[in-house]
Amino acid sequence: MPRRITGFTPSGDLHLGNYLGAMRPIIGPQHDADTVVFVSDLHALTLDHEPADVRRRTLEFATLLLAAGVDPDACLFMVQSHVPEHTELHYLLECVTGYGEAQRMIQFKEKSRRQEHIRTSLLTYPILMAADILLYDIDEVPVGEDQRQHVELARDLATRFNARYGETFTVPRAVNPAVAARVMDLSAPKEKMSKSTSSAAGALRLLDEPDQLRRKIMRAVTDAGTTVTYDPERSPGVANLLDILGGCTHHDPRDLAKTFDRYGELKTAVADAVVDTLAPIQERYRELAARPDHVRDVLRAGAGRARERAGETVRRTRAAIGLLPT
Ligand code: ATP
Ligand code: MG
Repeated sequence: MPRRITGFTPSGDLHLGNYLGAMRPIIGPQHDADTVVFVSDLHALTLDHEPADVRRRTLEFATLLLAAGVDPDACLFMVQSHVPEHTELHYLLECVTGYGEAQRMIQFKEKSRRQEHIRTSLLTYPILMAADILLYDIDEVPVGEDQRQHVELARDLATRFNARYGETFTVPRAVNPAVAARVMDLSAPKEKMSKSTSSAAGALRLLDEPDQLRRKIMRAVTDAGTTVTYDPERSPGVANLLDILGGCTHHDPRDLAKTFDRYGELKTAVADAVVDTLAPIQERYRELAARPDHVRDVLRAGAGRARERAGETVRRTRAAIGLLPT
């Protein structure tokens, strides 16, 4: 059984790209794969943040993940900071990471360009991500294109550590979710839909009201053409709508393109599909959000189980790298 992991950083509101590209692909096979799902709150501290927002969103993300179908009896499900082994392995892995290697990460270059004050944790965040993965002996990391390079780093660090200090880590690999690997921003369809950079009009938030979702989709940028074709290069807005529809309804976007004559029809179909996909999740979210103590109990139990597994990896790593046992 492959072991898989996905983390969600509470740095903005979860959107349809996170759902189609990451939540659904990890939750779907959770009973056939050894699965780890976690809220990566430590990663939210790499950019300027409001403490109250991070705390509120951490609980909101956990609640949404349960609402979307995470089964805490089938998965390891926890909040990253509740398992201190993540930060401990982070440091040990920093000791096998080159400075230039960390600086080469594209996401660091992009995110640091937008910052006046760059936190060191933004530079080292992919190393923490490597720790997240290596702690649980993960085989497969299902990720969108934006995270691929970070999984490569985790592979490199695992391979290097094993070669230098002896077999310690499972070497993970990135796998692509099948459909809608990259949902684009509705108002800027050459950019990906993003928690931290999309505008309110560009992102379909999982907790948006149905009419908000419809309004955003009806106003999505298309192009000056009139016929519906699937051409991500020349007509990225239309292709994105077809990808979203394909992702929600499990159809090939190229086939769907042939079934619509005009943009208006396509948009209405996308709006219906998105609302239908999100409505049951929103309903379960409201039920669970009324019981925050229950969600916190689930997280506490998950952290306990995660610490047992992570603790084992950290003990192995400490021994291999040369630390004196207590
Ligand atoms: P941020 O802007 O803070 O980086 P994000 O929207 O990129 O936020 P992440 O927390 O970085 O979200 O990623 C969570 C998961 O969602 C990852 O597996 C990532 O690959 C996936 N993901 C993020 N954005 C998209 C998207 N637009 N389409 C498909 N998958 C996505
Ligand atoms: Mg991201």
